[in-house]
Amino acid sequence: MPRKLVVGNWKMNGSLAVNADLVSAVAAGLPCAGELPGQVDVAIAPPIVYVAQLRQLIDKKNSSLALAVQDVSAAASGAFTGDVAASMVAEFGVRYAIVGHSERRKYQGESDSLVAQKAVAAQQAGLTPIVCVGETLEERDAGRALAVVAAQVHAVLMQSELDVSRLVIAYEPVWAIGTGRTASPEQAQEIHAAIRHQLKQLSEAAANTAILYGGSMNAANAKQLLAQADIDGGLIGGAALKAQDFLAIVQAAQ
Ligand code: PGA
Repeated sequence: MPRKLVVGNWKMNGSLAVNADLVSAVAAGLPCAGELPGQVDVAIAPPIVYVAQLRQLIDKKNSSLALAVQDVSAAASGAFTGDVAASMVAEFGVRYAIVGHSERRKYQGESDSLVAQKAVAAQQAGLTPIVCVGETLEERDAGRALAVVAAQVHAVLMQSELDVSRLVIAYEPVWAIGTGRTASPEQAQEIHAAIRHQLKQLSEAAANTAILYGGSMNAANAKQLLAQADIDGGLIGGAALKAQDFLAIVQAAQ
């Protein structure tokens, strides 16, 4: 069984002052580093410019809270204006890199193959990629949800350099993100089980790959979603911006 993981995706929200309050409140509800860890690993993904600020705050509080970034470059270094390399964020003790979030696929036109390259680049710098997959409403209504997700997962798994034992998948139906419309536990479980099957066909090591659910997960619906056999945690947007709500989701994952 994979360890449970709850990741707060702050998206493009925050400021020095807001971050300091939010991270203090979140850290106060989690074990300190070196203490007996809980059943759940917890990370937050701030906008990249705040990674150093949060590194300092987390270290000062000696918190077990881990850091994630919302994206990384597929390239290791060079003439890629505006990009940030995985090795650069790794220097700040960042543990995870979200790649292929549907907002990046939509607004930055990221393709399945670019997302797959980013996952490999993250691993090569020692980070664990959190690869986001998920269908749009039109695709679901057309009965294509399973096929779309399978193709997105396949693009990542066919990378020969990929190490499946250091991979997290996040199933985020696009129609559920930021809409308040959550997938039902049964809808989510169906896709998660299919992803698990796909991973296991590749390697037994994939049995330990955490598969997170994302899309309007909140304090009220987290417990039911997280009770599903193949839902190993959550990727939380809106509810990660309120410490109480975020910690309630972490609690529901215990
Ligand atoms: P949401 O976002 O929880 O606000 O729906 C989830 C995500 O986009 O990762």
